[in-house]
Amino acid sequence: MTRLTVPSTAYLTRLDAETRLRMATAKTPDSPFAGAPGELAAAVEAQVEALAADLSGVVHTLHQDPETAYQEHRSAAYLVQLLHRHGIEAQLGAYGLPTAISAEIGGTGTGTGAGTETGAAAPTIAILAEYDALPEVGHACGHNVIAATGVGAFIALARTLKEDPAAFEGRVLFLGTPAEEGHSGKEVMARNGAFDGVDAAIMVHPYAMDLAEQVWLGRRLLTVTFSGVAAHASAQPFMGRNALDAASLAYTAIGLLRQQLPPSDRVHAIITEGGQRPSVIPEKAVLKLYARSKYPETLKDLSARLEDIARGAALMTGTGVQIDWDEHPPSLPVRTNSALTGRWVAAQQRRGRAPLPAGVVSETIAASTDFGNVSYRIPGIHPLIGIAPADVALHTRAFAEAAGSEAADAGALDGAAGLALTALDYLSDPELRAAVAQEFKDAGGPVDVPAYFA
Ligand SMILES: [Zn+2]
Ligand SMILES: [Zn+2]
Repeated sequence: MTRLTVPSTAYLTRLDAETRLRMATAKTPDSPFAGAPGELAAAVEAQVEALAADLSGVVHTLHQDPETAYQEHRSAAYLVQLLHRHGIEAQLGAYGLPTAISAEIGGTGTGTGAGTETGAAAPTIAILAEYDALPEVGHACGHNVIAATGVGAFIALARTLKEDPAAFEGRVLFLGTPAEEGHSGKEVMARNGAFDGVDAAIMVHPYAMDLAEQVWLGRRLLTVTFSGVAAHASAQPFMGRNALDAASLAYTAIGLLRQQLPPSDRVHAIITEGGQRPSVIPEKAVLKLYARSKYPETLKDLSARLEDIARGAALMTGTGVQIDWDEHPPSLPVRTNSALTGRWVAAQQRRGRAPLPAGVVSETIAASTDFGNVSYRIPGIHPLIGIAPADVALHTRAFAEAAGSEAADAGALDGAAGLALTALDYLSDPELRAAVAQEFKDAGGPVDVPAYFA
């Protein structure tokens, strides 16, 4: 008998040391834009502060009652009730999803609407909130904190408008976006029009440190089904076509492909079906995988290589193959808008935080988010806010614990302030808006996401 080996922490230790070195010299990104007038920003920040108890209620109520993708009924209802308590109309069941939420407020300020992405008379910005949890480990991604930041920012802006309807121009949307984990709920909402007429979208995700920006990989789901011919594995194996052989060859080929992949590409496959008993040549085998890449075009290229592998394995074994992409919609990588990021950072500095720039944390530590799909439609940001010790990773029980801690309450409050102030800056500063739109255009403009991989 051989013993189970324990993965070495040597590489993680080195990564951590390198991150610390970069942190020591990193310069927090600054913003050349004025944003909102100081007095107005202070008023909005005070409104957020006044919501501390409500936001703590969101953090802990959702944390104690985690609901997974598309099952977030109680979480969504709680957020809608909170909006109602503050006199805000909100729709539960928006854009085709029963647990999605939408609400809207509008100012009567006398801006020009200049610099809007959509060319509308007045700008519109969406503040997003997630609230789905993970199976088994609960709020190990901290979406309960995201919910508090989004709803808190929106209520603070609504209360500001109630006191002075001319405080700012334009519209603010609150979008409760279900099923981020594995299901790309935002893409479903987008296809149902959630971002039509919206100029920019912002949200914040909890993490182990404050990061202004981090790499998020695009991601697709692939199911490959090999069909063979069953036969007696001893008496007449030559009369069979072995579907498990095909899955096994495909799995091996994916392993070999890795050497030729760009460094940030990820492919992780499992074989979920491969026969029932050894005496029967398997007539069906199923391989499921996630493919991830840093850019939309490299994800497309990776997809084509994986299809070739599936067809090659079928050809070698004389089996049939069915290739099914995207059981749930794909996620694109996140395209970060640096002009908006600068305002997020300025807001975080008011809160005593110093978000680190891109590149401080290794981009090999990357996951995926359906916010990527939003960020290729309209300008957006998806920064990270620290609520956990630096060595705690997302999707772990340790992170779930952090998501119910005092640090989570602090993150919810600072995150809400950051989103409210960033939205306020966007609505108040036409030069900022113009720069946001120009940067988005220079990065390639909007992408037709549903058609991209078709
Ligand atoms: Zn997650
Ligand atoms: Zn998450």
